[in-house]
Amino acid sequence: MIRFLTILLCIFAFFWLAKRIFRYFLGRWLMNLQPPMQTKVNNLSEKLVQCDYCQTFVPQVKAIEVAQRFYCSQEHAKL
Ligand SMILES: [Zn+2]
Repeated sequence: MIRFLTILLCIFAFFWLAKRIFRYFLGRWLMNLQPPMQTKVNNLSEKLVQCDYCQTFVPQVKAIEVAQRFYCSQEHAKL
């Protein structure tokens, strides 16, 4: 029984650690993906806008603008 609990604890510790590592790398990746806004304000091609429908960030040049709102695709602009 103690052996079973030890194995269970090891599995739990492994998943907890994996989750922490995953979150750390995900955070770093997101930081690289979205540079601070104040440094790239004047560069329109680098500016990201949020889709009004699905909340996805897309470059402003690729976004579809309808009534001063931005959308990631034609489908979402219609909805
Ligand atoms: Zn969208």
